[in-house]
Amino acid sequence: MTKTWLLPVLILVVTGPVLAERPIVIAHRGASGYLPEHTLAAKALAHAQGADFLEQDVVLTSDGVPIVSHDIHLDRVTDVALRFPERARPDSRYYAIDFSWPEIQQLRVVERVNEAGKAAYPNRFPTGTPLFRIVSLKEELQFIQGLNRSTGRNVGIYVELKQPAFHHREGQDLSLITLGILRTFGYEAADDQCFVQCFEEAELRRLREKLQTELRLIQLVSDGKEWQSLLQNPTRLERRLQSISEYADGIGPSLSLVVSGGQGDQDFSETPLVPAAHRAGLEVHGWTFRSDQLSCGAKDFGQLHRWTQAVGLDGYFTDFPDKTVHFLRDDVP
Ligand code: CA
Repeated sequence: MTKTWLLPVLILVVTGPVLAERPIVIAHRGASGYLPEHTLAAKALAHAQGADFLEQDVVLTSDGVPIVSHDIHLDRVTDVALRFPERARPDSRYYAIDFSWPEIQQLRVVERVNEAGKAAYPNRFPTGTPLFRIVSLKEELQFIQGLNRSTGRNVGIYVELKQPAFHHREGQDLSLITLGILRTFGYEAADDQCFVQCFEEAELRRLREKLQTELRLIQLVSDGKEWQSLLQNPTRLERRLQSISEYADGIGPSLSLVVSGGQGDQDFSETPLVPAAHRAGLEVHGWTFRSDQLSCGAKDFGQLHRWTQAVGLDGYFTDFPDKTVHFLRDDVP
């Protein structure tokens, strides 16, 4: 009788864990296409939809509690202006760092609105439905580890330090406090299921060199003059990526720096970014996959996934984890 089970076992032994070889799906602020961003409900849905990592954006309160919220401002995703109307700064914004953790807990989280107070994404969860509250980083990690235990899936975390330089100016050390909490939850080694991302290069270097974290670090990169000009100059691009590889394990670029819709017979065109990053030993995790706001000139969501798969993107920040899992993986039951 042939041992039919032997082949997959041998493949696993020879190639190592297959899961690590395929691109990772990162739930961007949770399953934020379906539920208000960074609520526990959005994280639970993303967990159930098969995301590999759940994202946390982190800012501090006045009493130094790390909370999970996308901005240093609270006004686009909570009812802070109704509850504490007199607490805006002269720029009319409400800053998380001006509120204590007990005050933050009184706020209700709602679907994101734009500057005009209208739904940022009109077809998503209704705005103004006050069913949710802001959670601390500690609560979020308890929640995810609880779900990991009850489901038997080991879903990772993907923490963004939001504007550390702003926090330093306000007298607070966002990175130090966040690393401390991560450590108490068992995230401290390079092979733990955890990434730390930031736009600020100086802070990422500090994390690696001064705070000596071993966690995997991702340098976020936005589409602007600097990177558009680097893409035109291969030598400078290689040098820049080499310098990032001194402290980071990967980059997190806007998708518009990776691919764009093609012309004539060409389906799409690829920029030099992904191959150059791979040569520098860096992973590339691109943002943001949104089926209700397509980027890069893609005609549909599947096309955007095919283009980015073809160029070897290693990580997908998506508002719709179920759809991204569907497009990337035929082997999902
Ligand atoms: Ca983020």
